[in-house]
Amino acid sequence: MVSYQCMECRKSIEGALVKKRVRCPYCGNKILNKQRILHVVVEAV
Ligand SMILES: [Zn+2]
Repeated sequence: MVSYQCMECRKSIEGALVKKRVRCPYCGNKILNKQRILHVVVEAV
C-alpha cells in the first residue's frame, strides 16, 4: 500500500487517487512525497 503526502497542503493521498497523474486532488500540487507505510513503530522507552 502506497500513499502520498502533498508537500503543499500536507494532506495524505491514497495511491488509488493519484494513479498515473501524480498530482494532489486537493490543491493541484504536483509535488507529492511518496511515503510507504513501513513498520514505523515508535516505542516509548
Ligand atoms: Zn495538496
